[in-house]
Amino acid sequence: KVRVRFAPSPTGPLHIGGVRTALYNYLFAKQNDGDMILRIEDTDSNRFVPGAEAYIEESLAWLGIKIDEGVQQGGPHAPYRQSERKDIYRKYVDQLLNDGKAYIAFDTPEELDAKRNEIKNFQYDASTRGMMQNSLTLSAEEVQNRIDAGKQYVVRIKIEPNEEVHVQDLIRGEVVINSSILDDKVLFKSADSLPTYHLANVVDDHLMEISHVIRGEEWLPSAPLHVLLYRALGWEDTMPQFAHLPLLLKPDGNGKLSKRDGDRLGFPVFPLEWKDPKTGDISSGYRETGYEPEAVINFLALLGWHAGSDQEIFSMEELIKEFSMDRCSKSGAKFDFEKGKWFNHQYLQLKPIEELAAKFKKVLEVKGVVATDETITSVIALMRERINFISELWDTTSYFFAAPTSYDEKSVQKRWKPFTAQQLTELSAYIETLDTFVTDKADTEAKVMEWIAAKEYKTGDVMNAFRIALVGESKGPHIFDLTTIIGKEETLRRIQQAIN
Ligand code: GLU
Repeated sequence: KVRVRFAPSPTGPLHIGGVRTALYNYLFAKQNDGDMILRIEDTDSNRFVPGAEAYIEESLAWLGIKIDEGVQQGGPHAPYRQSERKDIYRKYVDQLLNDGKAYIAFDTPEELDAKRNEIKNFQYDASTRGMMQNSLTLSAEEVQNRIDAGKQYVVRIKIEPNEEVHVQDLIRGEVVINSSILDDKVLFKSADSLPTYHLANVVDDHLMEISHVIRGEEWLPSAPLHVLLYRALGWEDTMPQFAHLPLLLKPDGNGKLSKRDGDRLGFPVFPLEWKDPKTGDISSGYRETGYEPEAVINFLALLGWHAGSDQEIFSMEELIKEFSMDRCSKSGAKFDFEKGKWFNHQYLQLKPIEELAAKFKKVLEVKGVVATDETITSVIALMRERINFISELWDTTSYFFAAPTSYDEKSVQKRWKPFTAQQLTELSAYIETLDTFVTDKADTEAKVMEWIAAKEYKTGDVMNAFRIALVGESKGPHIFDLTTIIGKEETLRRIQQAIN
């Protein structure tokens, strides 16, 4: 059975790259009728940030990434928070020590620093461990004495040098490295009786029966160590398959997209707004910026994966069907802000109009605008193709709901001529006579055009000024779309107002 996990550390808000990792896990799981597990990797208490776990859960829920097993959902392998699994890990630490696959080391941070200063490119490994204070160099009695005396220690994996380590990666193929470049990583610290990421991650993936580890490329360097850990624990036969996803790059392709890039570049890199509990700084989020969750999902799905066709708009269901590891790219994906907006634009065109109307109504309420549902939906139907976000709707359409309070100077200079007031006064009088002004748009337009021709006025002179009178500037939709919505009385009122 396919079982995948998203395993964030609650060290801050979930980055958009993390969201993409969660998404790819989810797509792969659902495509294979598998389970999606959310495991909170919080064994590094120094980096724990309050609120981060709740933020992660809220983000995934908003985006429609559903979790089958996790802290909130529970499940057969609970608890799903690593800090609550302390006792489980200890057993495997002891197993590794008993089997000679790991050893105890007493070196203090100061002693390690001293060694790093003394030996260029020092790393704790087969070539150096002999000169350090550990259970391989000290007698069993001495080791016990130190532990009994309360001396802090760590447990390190004992990596045999000069072995080829093969990592099979579903995206990258086979990656081979020589074990001599690996150091004897710390697996466990007596100070807090907690395992480090590497051990907890491998133990939990094994116990939780994870079939595929799908994660960011930044974890690829750790993969050989993980393979060796599975081997050391005797679990190599059931080791999960690995897939390391390409990095998300800055828009210019220069380096990895960072958490700070968002507000610097004026684009969110977090799913939801985040307030830093220490500094109080606020980082913008997709949700608060006005993105539809479906647009964010679609946008992220295509950052690092491509469909076999030109299709760009995918619902979650379609993504679940189409996703494939073969079409994940090996190279980094440039984060294209404009494309993100384009996706939101597309989704706003696809949404049921009532849904947009309900959101826009709230904006109108705040503005103190009273309008019928019919007007609101007509305006949205007419204008949604011009916006990327609901928040842009008011600025784009305010003149449907209220007469202009000022007139754009440039437009007036260019289009308001000495004879304009006279022409518009006559137009007003003519409009008065039109009984089907609102109900028959095409006829109204034809009649007004005929009238202009009969008068031997220039269409541009009349219509441009008419627009300024109605909108306040030289923008807006087709004039007769606008007049149909605001009605005859309001049209006449605005002409009057402009002339005076
Ligand atoms: N806790 C790790 C993280 O924060 C998990 C990496 C993995 O998926 O193995 O990304």
